[in-house]
Amino acid sequence: MAFVDTVELPDGTPMPRFGMGTWFLGESAAKHDDELAALRTGLDAGVTLIDTAEMYGSGAAEHLVGEAIRGYDRESLFLVSKVYPHNAGDPEIFESVEASLERLGTDYLDMYLLHWRGAVPLAETVECMEQLVGDGLIRHWGVSNFDVDDLEELFAVPDGERCAVNQVLYHLGSRGVEYAVLPWMRSVGMPLMAYCPLAQAGDLRRGLTNDPAVVEVARRHDATPLQILLAFVLRDPMAIAIPRSGKPEHVLENVHACEIELSDDDLALLSRSFPAPGYPTPLDIV
Ligand code: NDP
Repeated sequence: MAFVDTVELPDGTPMPRFGMGTWFLGESAAKHDDELAALRTGLDAGVTLIDTAEMYGSGAAEHLVGEAIRGYDRESLFLVSKVYPHNAGDPEIFESVEASLERLGTDYLDMYLLHWRGAVPLAETVECMEQLVGDGLIRHWGVSNFDVDDLEELFAVPDGERCAVNQVLYHLGSRGVEYAVLPWMRSVGMPLMAYCPLAQAGDLRRGLTNDPAVVEVARRHDATPLQILLAFVLRDPMAIAIPRSGKPEHVLENVHACEIELSDDDLALLSRSFPAPGYPTPLDIV
């Protein structure tokens, strides 16, 4: 795929399929200049989707994103942020969104996600999200770390079916969502935002990046193993990958990974080492 490819949200709005994650960014003064340059390198290359959250560095990541996007055409960007579960009700969510907008230096979010399920009833969160849409502070809302039973509960509350995305952990070494979550989402036309698409540079699954199948497929495409991990996620047209890097050269490598088209033979080889489970597994999280 080209990195500018999009997927349609349930209401028909196009959403970029490749973006930049920001967990752990903005937290270190010593890394500030590199991290800012990394985000700007992505923006200059045409990456428009940025994923952040009020949680990341207690707002430090949103601050850095705000600094990075200054001077870029806001309408061309697709900014995603997330609300803590304990802030996902009335009145906290309204304060949270205002604080995120302030840090980002913008007056609306393209997507606002419930970071994970907490004690606030889903019906209340949905009502608040819909109010934020009505007030023009967010354009869409979605959820994160929702398994099938959570999605079913969500769709049972008023306006719950207006959820636009579910952001979950998904990488070659963790394919549990392929069994039930992804098919469920596909059936309602809801894209999946894949977090940790690089398995945190392989750290989340021992042996992933030096697995012989991954190394062989990387060799075939003159790519790195991490680029193959990204190409794996992006092979699904309903998936959106949001790798994070604080280094400009890594961001460019990740952008170039979007050009890799895995063949059926590549996928078969990768699946022999890392098969999708043929049975239900609990949602993987970090
Ligand atoms: P990723 O899988 O994106 O891996 C990030 C790591 O990979 C970093 O250590 C980075 O280091 C390294 N890396 C990135 N590109 C390259 C490259 N080309 N070559 C070598 N190393 C590379 O992990 P994340 O946990 O950050 O997940 C991605 C994003 O998903 C997060 O940043 C966040 O926005 C979101 N997320 C959401 C969660 C949720 O609950 N909703 C949970 C976790 C993540 P370096 O900086 O040195 O490049």
